[in-house]
Parts: sequence; C-alpha cells; structure tokens
Amino acid sequence: MAQTFDRHRRLRKSAAMRNLVRENHVRVEDLIYPLFVVEGTGIKNEIPSMPGVYQLSLDTLAEEMKEIVALGIQAVLMFGVPTHKDACGTEAYNDDAITQQAMRLIKEAHPEMIVIADTCLCEYTDHGHCGVIHEGEVVNDETLKLLGQTAVSQAKAGADIIAPSNMMDGFVIAIREALDEAGFEHIPIMSYAVKYASAFYGPFRDAAGSTPQFGDRKSYQMDAANAREGLREAASDVKEGADFLIVKPGLAFMDMVLRLRENFNLPIVAYNVSAEYSMVKAAALNGWIDEERIVMETLVGFKRAGADMIITYHAKDVAKWLAR
Ligand SMILES: [Zn+2]
Repeated sequence: MAQTFDRHRRLRKSAAMRNLVRENHVRVEDLIYPLFVVEGTGIKNEIPSMPGVYQLSLDTLAEEMKEIVALGIQAVLMFGVPTHKDACGTEAYNDDAITQQAMRLIKEAHPEMIVIADTCLCEYTDHGHCGVIHEGEVVNDETLKLLGQTAVSQAKAGADIIAPSNMMDGFVIAIREALDEAGFEHIPIMSYAVKYASAFYGPFRDAAGSTPQFGDRKSYQMDAANAREGLREAASDVKEGADFLIVKPGLAFMDMVLRLRENFNLPIVAYNVSAEYSMVKAAALNGWIDEERIVMETLVGFKRAGADMIITYHAKDVAKWLAR
C-alpha cells in the first residue's frame, strides 16, 4: 500500500521511546517556592484557602527551610506580613522588619539558597494598595522612591534577587538606580513585567494580608483582555534594565509566556499563582482529579510555552515527585 498518511505513533510506542523524544522537562532547579513570614514565635498558620501553605514565624521558618533545602529546591520568594502597617508601608524598608530578619536568617543558615525578595508595599500598607495614596489615587513617582528604599534594604538583608511586583511605571529603573547607588550593582531585578489585575490572586491576599481596603488594582495592574499591552510593559522593563521577566498569573495567561519568549531573550518566569494552586488542591481533596498528573502537566505546559522557571506553591510536592 502506498503511504497515504504519517505514522506519528512510532515515537510513542514505549515509555523508553517517549522518554527519548520528550521535548520539555520540569527540573527541581526550575522551581521557586514562595514563603510568608509573620512576626511572633511558634506560628505555623495554614492558609485556609491554600492547604499545605503556611504563614511562618522565624523559628518555624528555620525548620521549613531545612525541609526545602533537603528537597533540593534552590530558590525561595519572600513575602513579609508585618503586624504594624501604615499609609506609607514603613515596614517594607525598615532594615529590622520581619522580611529583612527572615532573609538574614535564611542566608546565614543556607548561604547557597537563592533568596528572592518580593518588592512591593501592599503587604505593608494599611490601605493594602501597592503604593502611596493621594486623594484616593495610587501616586506613581512618589511610590518609586519607597520601592528603591525597599530594594536597598532587602539587598542589605541578603536578598540575591529583587522582584518588584507593584506595576508602577518606571519601577525597574528606579530600583536599578537605587541599588547601584547603594553598591548593589551585582543584584539582578526579576520584574513582574506582565502582571494582570486578576481574580486568581484571591487566596494569596489571605496569605499576605494584602487585600485593598478600597477600590481595586486596575489602575496599575493590566487588563486581562490585553496581550499587546503586555509586550509594551515588558519592553519598558527590558529597556530599564530588568534581568528576568515574570508573567503573572501563569495558567490563564500562558500565551503571554510564549509571546515574551518569542520577543525577548531574558529568562522568563511563570508565576503559578494562589488560586491555580487552590483549585487543584480543592479538586484533589475531593478525589476528582489526579493531583500529581494535573500539576506536572501544568508545569511542563509553562516550560513548553517558554518559561525557564516557575514560581509555584506546588514546589515541595513536585520536588518529592521528581525525586522518586
Ligand atoms: Zn503589591
């Protein structure tokens, strides 16, 4: 019989054959695990909407870090949740605040761990917005000064990477200049370049205590309907000196991972956000899905789209599965 069709199944015939031709892989080195640090001692509060994810005090953080290191995870993303919050987010750039203490503790115990600092004000402001407020508006340029101060304070505390997440215009250059002036020209910036105003952050706001007390974040975070705007945002950050580009959320915006991959040569980071985690956990707890397969398909999807690394609350589970 003359060949009238293509035989694709030849390369799927056995597990070994599939392994041989597999195009993308998730490695433990690709994973970045987010951590939420609170003041006090003996605290390990499970976040109700995120089973298996905790707010930790410094002592319980120390235990958690041993587990993370043993699993082979080599990067963590730090969020501090201070008790004291005010209009200007003072605790964000206080050298002795909880976030800075946590970073120093991790770097002392595990110098090889890559500590990434979330650089924003919303966890530290009493209004829960990512910047300074004047007459009900988040003021851009005044916020930049505070972000610069925050980044320098975090670098002093041992942060290896600064990750600004607040979507103010000019945040990358403002932070770059502040870091350079303070002698931290070697510290890279992992910019939340393409960050959407998204309902997928709901559970995170419980974890970080950062729900806006009025209004929403739509004047600074992007409209979920826009893709070309994301390319403009990323281009600005590249021009301003970003070293990495983050797409957040990841799952519903995977096209943006691919678009950035095709348009920029910087490392691309996908943020597999809180609600993506919560939905999987809820369905898994109900016995409705195969959790491991769902998570691994999602993460390899990010890699296929072009992400180099993935910020994910599933990191510890994935590290265990990969080590089997
Ligand atoms: Zn924020």
